[in-house]
Amino acid sequence: MVNPIGLSLPSFFLPIAVGLGVRPATYSQISAEHRDFIDKIAKARGYQHYKDAGRFHPDARKAFNDMVAAAKGEKITLAAFSTYRPYDQQVQYYFSDRPTDHGAIRKIWQPEAEDLAEIKRQYLARAEMVAPPGYSKHHTGLVVDLNSDKESYWESDTGKKTFQWLVKNAPRFGYQLSYSGAQGTGAVLENWEWQYVGNSKNGYPPVKIEDFIEP
Ligand SMILES: [Zn+2]
Repeated sequence: MVNPIGLSLPSFFLPIAVGLGVRPATYSQISAEHRDFIDKIAKARGYQHYKDAGRFHPDARKAFNDMVAAAKGEKITLAAFSTYRPYDQQVQYYFSDRPTDHGAIRKIWQPEAEDLAEIKRQYLARAEMVAPPGYSKHHTGLVVDLNSDKESYWESDTGKKTFQWLVKNAPRFGYQLSYSGAQGTGAVLENWEWQYVGNSKNGYPPVKIEDFIEP
């Protein structure tokens, strides 16, 4: 099949010519064609589509506060820079045109970005680090981003010490690493994102993120 700009592409790519020229500011502004394309990118990376829970889950919040206090007692500082995040905020992240923002996809918003293969490449690159809107675990209110999303921090002595503390202690409070980097599970390894699953032995009620999945 040949699209209007003369590139031979599988039919998978054809619908995205419509609606790509406009950068959405909110979830509802994403055109159906655009969303269909993003959904395919998300599924290709193994992300799940989540309900917007509307709040930081109270059990996750309580466990988080306990974990912060325990860490502080061992001279480890944990500070959340993101917890619950609505769809519209994820739109801002995923469609960001700031060149420094996890590898720009800014070409998408320029007229010369008519090369659909390049557009797909840029979207996939973005999805390694930022979940497409609707596909972020932050929508569930069960994850926290801690301290920094900069690799340089996690490679520093403080960052390494903090990560080691988390690996060893977070499970006591019902938290586990959100993205391990395993293939087909969404983003690459994110040292900063921790997901509440609960730990009934320690009084943290189990919560299944699967219950937040929406087809
Ligand atoms: Zn995160």
